[in-house]
Amino acid sequence: VFVTFEGGDGAGKTTHIRFLANALSAMGREVVCLREPGGTDVGEQLRGVVLSPKNVNMCDASELLIYEAARAQLVSEVIVPALSRGAVVLCDRFTDSTVAYQGYGRGLDRAFVDAANAFACQGLVPDRTILLVSGGSTADGLARATRRAGADRMERAGEDFHARVNAAFLDIARRDPKRVRLVQSSGRKSHTAVQVFAQLADLFPW
Ligand code: C5P
Ligand code: MG
Repeated sequence: VFVTFEGGDGAGKTTHIRFLANALSAMGREVVCLREPGGTDVGEQLRGVVLSPKNVNMCDASELLIYEAARAQLVSEVIVPALSRGAVVLCDRFTDSTVAYQGYGRGLDRAFVDAANAFACQGLVPDRTILLVSGGSTADGLARATRRAGADRMERAGEDFHARVNAAFLDIARRDPKRVRLVQSSGRKSHTAVQVFAQLADLFPW
């Protein structure tokens, strides 16, 4: 089973992946937790390149292709083998982030972004995607993410950019409601976790 987590910076993806992974491990499932970009040696190196504040001059097309290169490596080296041995794969960001950030955020051609995603994934689509939405403003989430991590190249892209990204995620959820489930993450963490688990109840025997 392949589950991805999406949402803006600071929405709580990492926290809720950890909760879910713990619960699934306790049930005896093999769980593979991944983050994008990253999750492989190649991918972690590419993450360094694409997020480095030194690379402010990176053009949008280059940015897209680096994300896709990292994703192609992750899918073929880790995700496909894990799924075929029956593991649960939980991924912090996946193709929807590219649609939101590089498609809507950077304004790259949507049809090309979709094609690039499909190419990198060899057609693999998540069984479920949890979209975490923090009720607060974009600025709140950004401030949280920036405090935690130190601003990376993307997080400094500006508030307009992040507003477009958040709107894009909502649009993605609206278009594909069977796969993409929206969960508010502004309240108590435990409350959010319950909702996340509920949105996966048809995939796992809680
Ligand atoms: O998930 P995390 O917040 O660690 O992502 C790192 C950064 O990469 C974020 O600041 C996000 O804005 C950016 N990103 C991006 N395009 C993607 C995936 C992530 O700009 N496709
Ligand atoms: Mg971040």
